[in-house]
Amino acid sequence: MISRQKISQILSGYDQHKLTVATVSSHSALQIFHGARQEGLRSLNICTGDRRATYEAFPLSKADKFFIVEEFRDILKPEVQAKLIEENAIVVPHGSFVEHIGAEEILDRFVVPMFGNRESLAWETDRNRQRLWLESAGLKMPREYKDPSEINQKVFAKLPGAKGGRGFFTADTEQEFQRKLTDRVKRGIVKEEDARNITIQEYVAGVRYYPHYFASPMQRFGLPVGNGSLELLSMDKRIEPVDECYRGLPEISEEFFDYTVTGNQPVVIRESLLTEVLRMGARTTGRSRELFSPGLIGPFSLETMYHPNRGFTVFEISARIVAGTNLYPMGSPYSAYTYGKPMSTGRRIARELRRGLEEGTLDKIVF
Ligand code: AMP
Ligand code: AMP
Repeated sequence: MISRQKISQILSGYDQHKLTVATVSSHSALQIFHGARQEGLRSLNICTGDRRATYEAFPLSKADKFFIVEEFRDILKPEVQAKLIEENAIVVPHGSFVEHIGAEEILDRFVVPMFGNRESLAWETDRNRQRLWLESAGLKMPREYKDPSEINQKVFAKLPGAKGGRGFFTADTEQEFQRKLTDRVKRGIVKEEDARNITIQEYVAGVRYYPHYFASPMQRFGLPVGNGSLELLSMDKRIEPVDECYRGLPEISEEFFDYTVTGNQPVVIRESLLTEVLRMGARTTGRSRELFSPGLIGPFSLETMYHPNRGFTVFEISARIVAGTNLYPMGSPYSAYTYGKPMSTGRRIARELRRGLEEGTLDKIVF
Protein backbone atom coordinates (compact mmCIF):
# COMPACT_ATOMS: atom_id res chain seq x y z
CA MET A 1 0.00 0.00 0.00
CA ILE A 2 1.20 3.51 -0.80
CA SER A 3 2.27 5.05 2.48
CA ARG A 4 0.63 8.03 4.08
CA GLN A 5 4.00 9.71 4.08
CA LYS A 6 4.24 9.49 0.30
CA ILE A 7 0.80 11.09 -0.13
CA SER A 8 1.66 13.77 2.43
CA GLN A 9 4.80 14.56 0.52
CA ILE A 10 2.86 14.96 -2.75
CA LEU A 11 0.23 17.06 -1.00
CA SER A 12 2.89 19.35 0.43
CA GLY A 13 3.92 20.22 -3.14
CA TYR A 14 0.38 21.39 -3.99
CA ASP A 15 -0.51 24.98 -4.69
CA GLN A 16 -3.17 25.30 -2.01
CA HIS A 17 -4.83 28.26 -3.74
CA LYS A 18 -5.54 25.99 -6.68
CA LEU A 19 -6.78 22.93 -4.85
CA THR A 20 -9.07 21.03 -7.24
CA VAL A 21 -11.79 18.52 -6.43
CA ALA A 22 -11.61 15.70 -8.98
CA THR A 23 -13.54 12.55 -9.70
CA VAL A 24 -14.51 10.26 -12.58
CA SER A 25 -17.68 10.88 -14.57
CA SER A 26 -20.22 8.53 -12.99
CA HIS A 27 -22.15 7.63 -9.81
CA SER A 28 -22.30 10.89 -7.79
CA ALA A 29 -19.97 13.08 -9.84
CA LEU A 30 -22.60 15.76 -10.58
CA GLN A 31 -23.16 16.22 -6.87
CA ILE A 32 -19.44 16.29 -6.08
CA PHE A 33 -18.73 19.00 -8.68
CA HIS A 34 -21.83 20.95 -7.66
CA GLY A 35 -20.69 20.84 -4.02
CA ALA A 36 -17.17 21.98 -4.93
CA ARG A 37 -18.59 24.94 -6.82
CA GLN A 38 -20.88 25.87 -3.91
CA GLU A 39 -17.88 25.95 -1.59
CA GLY A 40 -15.74 27.93 -4.01
CA LEU A 41 -13.30 25.14 -4.93
CA ARG A 42 -12.10 24.31 -8.43
CA SER A 43 -13.20 21.04 -10.01
CA LEU A 44 -11.91 18.58 -12.58
CA ASN A 45 -13.94 15.90 -14.34
CA ILE A 46 -11.97 12.82 -15.37
CA CYS A 47 -14.37 11.95 -18.15
CA THR A 48 -14.75 9.45 -20.96
CA GLY A 49 -15.36 11.11 -24.34
CA ASP A 50 -18.86 9.67 -24.70
CA ARG A 51 -19.99 11.26 -21.44
CA ARG A 52 -18.64 14.74 -21.90
CA ALA A 53 -21.91 16.12 -23.30
CA THR A 54 -23.83 14.70 -20.32
CA TYR A 55 -21.53 16.37 -17.84
CA GLU A 56 -21.66 19.64 -19.71
CA ALA A 57 -25.44 19.57 -19.79
CA PHE A 58 -25.81 20.70 -16.16
CA PRO A 59 -24.25 24.16 -15.88
CA LEU A 60 -24.09 24.35 -12.09
CA SER A 61 -22.31 21.04 -11.76
CA LYS A 62 -20.14 21.35 -14.82
CA ALA A 63 -16.53 20.96 -13.69
CA ASP A 64 -14.12 23.80 -14.42
CA LYS A 65 -11.92 21.42 -16.38
CA PHE A 66 -12.38 18.16 -18.24
CA PHE A 67 -9.68 15.59 -18.57
CA ILE A 68 -10.68 13.06 -21.22
CA VAL A 69 -9.65 9.42 -20.79
CA GLU A 70 -10.51 6.39 -22.89
CA GLU A 71 -11.61 4.38 -19.88
CA PHE A 72 -11.66 4.99 -16.12
CA ARG A 73 -8.79 2.59 -15.52
CA ASP A 74 -6.54 4.98 -17.42
CA ILE A 75 -6.22 7.01 -14.27
CA LEU A 76 -3.73 4.42 -13.05
CA LYS A 77 -1.37 5.36 -15.89
CA PRO A 78 1.63 7.29 -14.59
CA GLU A 79 1.15 10.13 -17.08
CA VAL A 80 -2.48 10.60 -16.03
CA GLN A 81 -1.55 10.57 -12.34
CA ALA A 82 1.19 13.12 -13.03
CA LYS A 83 -1.33 15.35 -14.79
CA LEU A 84 -3.75 15.12 -11.84
CA ILE A 85 -0.98 16.04 -9.42
CA GLU A 86 -0.03 18.97 -11.64
CA GLU A 87 -3.65 20.13 -11.36
CA ASN A 88 -3.46 19.97 -7.53
CA ALA A 89 -6.24 17.38 -7.60
CA ILE A 90 -7.83 15.78 -4.57
CA VAL A 91 -9.75 12.80 -5.88
CA VAL A 92 -13.08 11.95 -4.30
CA PRO A 93 -13.63 8.18 -4.54
CA HIS A 94 -17.17 7.01 -5.28
CA GLY A 95 -18.82 3.63 -5.99
CA SER A 96 -18.01 3.48 -9.69
CA PHE A 97 -14.46 4.68 -9.10
CA VAL A 98 -13.86 1.81 -6.70
CA GLU A 99 -15.73 -0.76 -8.81
CA HIS A 100 -13.99 0.09 -12.10
CA ILE A 101 -10.49 0.62 -10.76
CA GLY A 102 -10.45 -1.78 -7.82
CA ALA A 103 -9.59 -1.04 -4.20
CA GLU A 104 -6.28 -2.92 -4.32
CA GLU A 105 -5.08 -1.10 -7.40
CA ILE A 106 -6.03 2.21 -5.82
CA LEU A 107 -4.19 1.39 -2.61
CA ASP A 108 -1.09 0.07 -4.34
CA ARG A 109 -0.77 2.19 -7.46
CA PHE A 110 -2.72 5.44 -7.18
CA VAL A 111 -0.52 8.14 -5.66
CA VAL A 112 -2.85 11.08 -6.22
CA PRO A 113 -4.12 12.41 -2.86
CA MET A 114 -7.71 11.35 -2.16
CA PHE A 115 -10.34 12.67 0.22
CA GLY A 116 -10.78 10.32 3.19
CA ASN A 117 -8.85 7.35 4.50
CA ARG A 118 -8.05 5.18 1.49
CA GLU A 119 -7.75 2.13 3.73
CA SER A 120 -11.49 2.21 4.31
CA LEU A 121 -11.92 1.20 0.64
CA ALA A 122 -10.04 -2.03 1.31
CA TRP A 123 -12.24 -2.72 4.33
CA GLU A 124 -15.45 -2.17 2.39
CA THR A 125 -14.52 -4.34 -0.62
CA ASP A 126 -13.44 -7.38 1.37
CA ARG A 127 -16.57 -9.04 2.74
CA ASN A 128 -14.67 -10.84 5.51
CA ARG A 129 -13.13 -7.64 6.79
CA GLN A 130 -16.45 -5.87 6.44
CA ARG A 131 -18.10 -8.49 8.66
CA LEU A 132 -15.31 -8.37 11.22
CA TRP A 133 -15.64 -4.57 11.35
CA LEU A 134 -19.42 -4.36 11.63
CA GLU A 135 -19.95 -7.31 13.97
CA SER A 136 -17.20 -6.18 16.31
CA ALA A 137 -18.90 -2.76 16.32
CA GLY A 138 -21.95 -4.53 17.76
CA LEU A 139 -24.07 -4.40 14.60
CA LYS A 140 -26.23 -7.35 13.58
CA MET A 141 -25.45 -8.85 10.19
CA PRO A 142 -27.26 -11.61 8.27
CA ARG A 143 -25.98 -15.12 8.97
CA GLU A 144 -23.47 -16.24 6.37
CA TYR A 145 -23.26 -19.74 4.88
CA LYS A 146 -19.73 -20.93 4.13
CA ASP A 147 -20.90 -23.65 1.75
CA PRO A 148 -24.07 -24.13 -0.33
CA SER A 149 -24.56 -27.55 1.31
CA GLU A 150 -25.41 -25.69 4.56
CA ILE A 151 -28.44 -23.93 3.04
CA ASN A 152 -31.42 -24.68 5.30
CA GLN A 153 -33.60 -21.58 4.81
CA LYS A 154 -34.19 -18.86 2.24
CA VAL A 155 -30.84 -17.34 1.30
CA PHE A 156 -29.64 -14.34 -0.64
CA ALA A 157 -26.65 -14.81 -2.95
CA LYS A 158 -24.39 -11.81 -3.57
CA LEU A 159 -21.42 -11.27 -5.84
CA PRO A 160 -18.18 -9.66 -4.71
CA GLY A 161 -17.53 -5.93 -5.08
CA ALA A 162 -19.93 -3.05 -5.55
CA LYS A 163 -22.12 -4.54 -8.26
CA GLY A 164 -25.18 -2.49 -7.41
CA GLY A 165 -27.20 -5.69 -6.94
CA ARG A 166 -26.58 -7.04 -10.45
CA GLY A 167 -26.82 -10.83 -10.65
CA PHE A 168 -27.95 -11.27 -7.02
CA PHE A 169 -30.60 -13.95 -6.39
CA THR A 170 -32.50 -15.91 -3.75
CA ALA A 171 -32.69 -19.67 -3.22
CA ASP A 172 -34.39 -22.05 -0.80
CA THR A 173 -32.18 -25.10 -1.31
CA GLU A 174 -28.67 -26.00 -2.41
CA GLN A 175 -30.05 -27.39 -5.70
CA GLU A 176 -31.92 -24.20 -6.49
CA PHE A 177 -28.81 -22.17 -5.62
CA GLN A 178 -26.59 -24.22 -7.98
CA ARG A 179 -29.17 -24.15 -10.78
CA LYS A 180 -29.60 -20.37 -10.63
CA LEU A 181 -25.87 -19.72 -10.36
CA THR A 182 -25.01 -21.97 -13.33
CA ASP A 183 -27.75 -20.33 -15.38
CA ARG A 184 -26.41 -16.85 -14.62
CA VAL A 185 -22.85 -17.81 -15.51
CA LYS A 186 -24.09 -19.33 -18.81
CA ARG A 187 -26.02 -16.19 -19.68
CA GLY A 188 -22.98 -14.03 -18.90
CA ILE A 189 -24.70 -12.14 -16.05
CA VAL A 190 -22.16 -13.53 -13.59
CA LYS A 191 -18.44 -13.96 -14.31
CA GLU A 192 -16.95 -17.36 -13.41
CA GLU A 193 -14.43 -15.69 -11.14
CA ASP A 194 -17.21 -13.88 -9.26
CA ALA A 195 -19.22 -17.12 -9.02
CA ARG A 196 -16.33 -18.69 -7.12
CA ASN A 197 -16.38 -15.81 -4.64
CA ILE A 198 -20.11 -15.62 -4.13
CA THR A 199 -21.45 -14.81 -0.65
CA ILE A 200 -24.48 -16.67 0.66
CA GLN A 201 -26.42 -14.80 3.31
CA GLU A 202 -29.56 -15.48 5.25
CA TYR A 203 -32.45 -13.74 3.44
CA VAL A 204 -33.51 -10.83 5.64
CA ALA A 205 -37.09 -9.56 5.57
CA GLY A 206 -37.90 -5.95 6.41
CA VAL A 207 -37.85 -2.40 5.12
CA ARG A 208 -34.62 -1.02 3.69
CA TYR A 209 -33.08 2.19 4.99
CA TYR A 210 -29.76 3.57 3.78
CA PRO A 211 -28.67 6.34 6.16
CA HIS A 212 -25.97 8.63 4.76
CA TYR A 213 -23.48 9.66 7.41
CA PHE A 214 -20.51 11.99 7.45
CA ALA A 215 -17.66 11.40 9.90
CA SER A 216 -15.47 14.38 10.64
CA PRO A 217 -12.27 13.93 12.63
CA MET A 218 -12.00 17.69 13.16
CA GLN A 219 -15.38 19.30 13.56
CA ARG A 220 -17.51 19.29 16.68
CA PHE A 221 -20.84 19.25 14.92
CA GLY A 222 -23.64 16.73 15.22
CA LEU A 223 -23.10 13.68 17.43
CA PRO A 224 -19.73 13.66 19.22
CA VAL A 225 -17.55 10.63 18.42
CA GLY A 226 -14.09 10.74 20.01
CA ASN A 227 -12.53 14.10 19.13
CA GLY A 228 -14.66 14.45 16.04
CA SER A 229 -18.30 14.01 15.21
CA LEU A 230 -20.87 12.22 13.14
CA GLU A 231 -23.61 13.85 11.10
CA LEU A 232 -26.67 12.20 9.60
CA LEU A 233 -26.96 14.02 6.28
CA SER A 234 -29.77 12.13 4.55
CA MET A 235 -31.39 8.75 3.89
CA ASP A 236 -32.65 6.85 0.87
CA LYS A 237 -33.97 3.55 -0.32
CA ARG A 238 -32.94 1.93 -3.58
CA ILE A 239 -35.34 1.03 -6.34
CA GLU A 240 -34.81 -2.33 -7.98
CA PRO A 241 -36.94 -4.22 -10.55
CA VAL A 242 -38.05 -6.59 -7.75
CA ASP A 243 -39.85 -3.63 -6.12
CA GLU A 244 -42.18 -3.44 -9.14
CA CYS A 245 -43.12 -7.10 -9.19
CA TYR A 246 -46.79 -6.61 -8.30
CA ARG A 247 -47.65 -4.63 -11.40
CA GLY A 248 -51.01 -6.33 -11.86
CA LEU A 249 -49.54 -9.41 -13.45
CA PRO A 250 -51.46 -12.64 -12.89
CA GLU A 251 -48.12 -14.39 -12.44
CA ILE A 252 -44.93 -12.67 -11.39
CA SER A 253 -42.42 -12.95 -14.19
CA GLU A 254 -38.89 -14.23 -13.41
CA GLU A 255 -37.55 -11.01 -14.93
CA PHE A 256 -38.79 -9.04 -11.95
CA PHE A 257 -36.61 -11.01 -9.53
CA ASP A 258 -33.74 -8.70 -10.21
CA TYR A 259 -32.01 -6.67 -7.51
CA THR A 260 -29.99 -4.32 -9.72
CA VAL A 261 -30.24 -0.78 -8.40
CA THR A 262 -31.83 1.42 -11.05
CA GLY A 263 -32.52 4.50 -8.98
CA ASN A 264 -33.14 5.84 -5.50
CA GLN A 265 -36.08 7.18 -3.51
CA PRO A 266 -36.01 9.58 -0.58
CA VAL A 267 -37.14 8.27 2.79
CA VAL A 268 -37.34 9.47 6.33
CA ILE A 269 -37.38 6.99 9.16
CA ARG A 270 -39.81 6.81 12.05
CA GLU A 271 -38.34 9.30 14.49
CA SER A 272 -38.02 6.87 17.38
CA LEU A 273 -35.68 4.77 15.23
CA LEU A 274 -33.22 7.63 14.77
CA THR A 275 -31.54 6.84 18.08
CA GLU A 276 -30.50 3.44 16.76
CA VAL A 277 -29.55 4.85 13.35
CA LEU A 278 -27.15 7.30 15.03
CA ARG A 279 -25.87 4.68 17.44
CA MET A 280 -25.01 2.30 14.57
CA GLY A 281 -23.19 5.06 12.71
CA ALA A 282 -21.23 6.10 15.79
CA ARG A 283 -20.20 2.54 16.63
CA THR A 284 -19.09 1.91 13.05
CA THR A 285 -17.00 5.09 13.10
CA GLY A 286 -15.52 4.36 16.53
CA ARG A 287 -14.59 0.80 15.64
CA SER A 288 -13.01 1.90 12.33
CA ARG A 289 -10.60 4.08 14.28
CA GLU A 290 -9.42 1.04 16.24
CA LEU A 291 -9.18 -1.22 13.19
CA PHE A 292 -7.56 1.09 10.65
CA SER A 293 -6.55 4.30 12.35
CA PRO A 294 -7.57 7.10 11.91
CA GLY A 295 -10.63 5.22 10.60
CA LEU A 296 -13.53 6.44 8.54
CA ILE A 297 -13.27 10.02 7.35
CA GLY A 298 -16.04 11.64 5.36
CA PRO A 299 -19.16 10.05 3.90
CA PHE A 300 -20.29 6.47 4.42
CA SER A 301 -23.54 4.56 4.46
CA LEU A 302 -24.93 1.50 6.20
CA GLU A 303 -27.29 -0.64 4.15
CA THR A 304 -29.88 -1.73 6.64
CA MET A 305 -33.07 -3.74 6.81
CA TYR A 306 -35.45 -2.94 9.65
CA HIS A 307 -38.10 -5.31 10.94
CA PRO A 308 -40.16 -4.44 14.04
CA ASN A 309 -39.51 -7.89 15.55
CA ARG A 310 -35.85 -8.11 14.69
CA GLY A 311 -34.58 -4.55 14.77
CA PHE A 312 -31.89 -3.46 12.31
CA THR A 313 -29.82 -5.89 10.29
CA VAL A 314 -26.91 -4.35 8.41
CA PHE A 315 -26.06 -6.18 5.21
CA GLU A 316 -23.38 -3.93 3.79
CA ILE A 317 -21.33 -0.78 4.29
CA SER A 318 -20.26 1.74 1.67
CA ALA A 319 -17.20 3.41 3.14
CA ARG A 320 -17.42 6.42 0.77
CA ILE A 321 -20.13 8.52 -0.84
CA VAL A 322 -23.17 6.43 -1.93
CA ALA A 323 -25.27 7.27 -4.97
CA GLY A 324 -28.43 7.58 -2.86
CA THR A 325 -27.12 10.97 -1.75
CA ASN A 326 -27.81 12.20 -5.31
CA LEU A 327 -31.37 12.83 -4.16
CA TYR A 328 -30.33 15.76 -2.04
CA PRO A 329 -28.33 18.41 -3.93
CA MET A 330 -30.39 21.01 -2.07
CA GLY A 331 -30.20 19.29 1.30
CA SER A 332 -32.45 16.75 2.99
CA PRO A 333 -35.04 16.56 5.78
CA TYR A 334 -32.12 15.78 8.12
CA SER A 335 -29.42 18.16 6.91
CA ALA A 336 -31.95 20.97 7.39
CA TYR A 337 -31.59 20.54 11.14
CA THR A 338 -27.82 20.87 10.98
CA TYR A 339 -27.28 23.54 8.33
CA GLY A 340 -29.06 26.77 7.59
CA LYS A 341 -28.38 26.27 3.89
CA PRO A 342 -28.72 23.43 1.41
CA MET A 343 -26.08 20.82 2.27
CA SER A 344 -25.53 17.80 0.05
CA THR A 345 -22.91 15.17 0.79
CA GLY A 346 -20.90 16.54 -2.16
CA ARG A 347 -20.95 19.99 -0.66
CA ARG A 348 -20.13 18.62 2.80
CA ILE A 349 -16.98 17.00 1.36
CA ALA A 350 -15.92 20.30 -0.23
CA ARG A 351 -16.62 22.13 3.01
CA GLU A 352 -14.41 19.74 4.98
CA LEU A 353 -11.65 20.27 2.42
CA ARG A 354 -12.05 24.02 2.58
CA ARG A 355 -11.84 23.96 6.34
CA GLY A 356 -8.76 21.74 6.15
CA LEU A 357 -7.21 24.30 3.81
CA GLU A 358 -8.07 27.23 6.05
CA GLU A 359 -6.82 25.56 9.21
CA GLY A 360 -3.79 23.88 7.69
CA THR A 361 -5.10 20.43 8.58
CA LEU A 362 -5.56 18.97 5.09
CA ASP A 363 -3.27 16.07 5.89
CA LYS A 364 -5.76 14.88 8.51
CA ILE A 365 -8.46 14.31 5.88
CA VAL A 366 -6.52 13.65 2.67
CA PHE A 367 -4.72 10.31 2.23
P1 AMP B 1 -23.06 2.00 -4.14
O1 AMP B 1 -22.76 0.86 -3.23
O2 AMP B 1 -24.42 2.58 -4.02
O3 AMP B 1 -22.06 3.11 -4.07
O4 AMP B 1 -23.00 1.45 -5.62
C1 AMP B 1 -22.11 0.49 -6.04
C2 AMP B 1 -22.19 0.29 -7.52
O5 AMP B 1 -23.51 0.36 -8.00
C3 AMP B 1 -21.41 1.27 -8.30
O6 AMP B 1 -20.53 0.57 -9.11
C4 AMP B 1 -22.40 2.06 -9.14
O7 AMP B 1 -22.04 2.00 -10.49
C5 AMP B 1 -23.68 1.38 -8.94
N1 AMP B 1 -24.73 2.27 -8.44
C6 AMP B 1 -25.35 2.20 -7.28
N2 AMP B 1 -26.33 3.10 -7.16
C7 AMP B 1 -26.33 3.78 -8.30
C8 AMP B 1 -27.11 4.85 -8.80
N3 AMP B 1 -28.13 5.38 -8.13
N4 AMP B 1 -26.81 5.33 -9.99
C9 AMP B 1 -25.81 4.81 -10.68
N5 AMP B 1 -25.05 3.79 -10.29
C10 AMP B 1 -25.29 3.27 -9.11
P1 AMP C 1 -26.66 -4.20 -2.04
O1 AMP C 1 -25.95 -4.04 -3.34
O2 AMP C 1 -25.85 -4.86 -0.99
O3 AMP C 1 -27.33 -2.95 -1.59
O4 AMP C 1 -27.84 -5.23 -2.32
C1 AMP C 1 -28.77 -5.00 -3.32
C2 AMP C 1 -30.15 -5.38 -2.83
O5 AMP C 1 -30.19 -6.73 -2.48
C3 AMP C 1 -30.64 -4.65 -1.60
O6 AMP C 1 -31.17 -3.40 -1.84
C4 AMP C 1 -31.70 -5.60 -1.11
O7 AMP C 1 -32.89 -5.49 -1.86
C5 AMP C 1 -31.11 -6.94 -1.42
N1 AMP C 1 -30.39 -7.60 -0.32
C6 AMP C 1 -29.07 -7.54 -0.04
N2 AMP C 1 -28.75 -8.35 1.00
C7 AMP C 1 -29.90 -8.97 1.36
C8 AMP C 1 -30.23 -9.95 2.35
N3 AMP C 1 -29.32 -10.50 3.14
N4 AMP C 1 -31.53 -10.34 2.42
C9 AMP C 1 -32.46 -9.82 1.60
N5 AMP C 1 -32.22 -8.93 0.65
C10 AMP C 1 -30.96 -8.49 0.52
